[in-house]
Amino acid sequence: MFANSVQSDMLRDIEREVAYTRHEIGRDAFAPRVMAAMAAVPREQFVPESGRHLAFANGPLAIGHGQTISQPYIVALMTDLLAPRPQDSILEIGTGSGYQAAVLAELVRQVHSVEIIAALATAAGQRLARLGYDNVSVRHADGFHGWPEHAPYDGIVVTAAAPQVPPPLVEQLKPGARLVIPVGMPGGVQELKVVEKHADGSITSRNILLVAFVPLTRTATGSDRQET
Ligand code: SAH
Repeated sequence: MFANSVQSDMLRDIEREVAYTRHEIGRDAFAPRVMAAMAAVPREQFVPESGRHLAFANGPLAIGHGQTISQPYIVALMTDLLAPRPQDSILEIGTGSGYQAAVLAELVRQVHSVEIIAALATAAGQRLARLGYDNVSVRHADGFHGWPEHAPYDGIVVTAAAPQVPPPLVEQLKPGARLVIPVGMPGGVQELKVVEKHADGSITSRNILLVAFVPLTRTATGSDRQET
């Protein structure tokens, strides 16, 4: 009961922030199925016990290892920009808590998610399985390289900021697919970009909104890769 009412407050806060930012984001509302997915995922299951009372507040929250679960409005915005369809196979870079992956899992056939911190990858994989999200696979690896084995994708979302768009991610898009990614210097603000690969293979990109994400970090080797 309590969870339901704070969850509807969360949806109302998202709608309010859409109204504030409608000129930047070029829309008055997010797709009803995106809002339904936001309503369906139990966000409190993705935050540490100590942050549960804030699970539905419209702000980012610490999830350990110096990382954060994004603000609900940003999760909804990135999902809406991706325009996911039921048959899609989507790649996420930056699994974190698994929350964005769960929102996507409500909307598409398959989600592949890559996380560079082993402990987060393991915990998110277990959490998603426990909650019944059996259409999400999580891999511990450097997401700069994407996840070539399951490519090409109908859409890719990156939830950590990169100084440039990683070329392997553009390669792993299907023609007609889009990549939603914050681009800019870590520690500052970044541009949330939508990069589109057109049917003829040409690439265009547009800036949507200034955002602040944790950085996309890099590792030298992939020798400790594991999958769940
Ligand atoms: N989408 C997450 C929040 C992401 S926070 C959620 O819904 O909870 C950004 C995440 O990206 C962090 O967990 C961080 O460890 C991860 N990350 C940073 N660099 C990465 C890289 N190169 N490859 C994969 N994951 C990365």
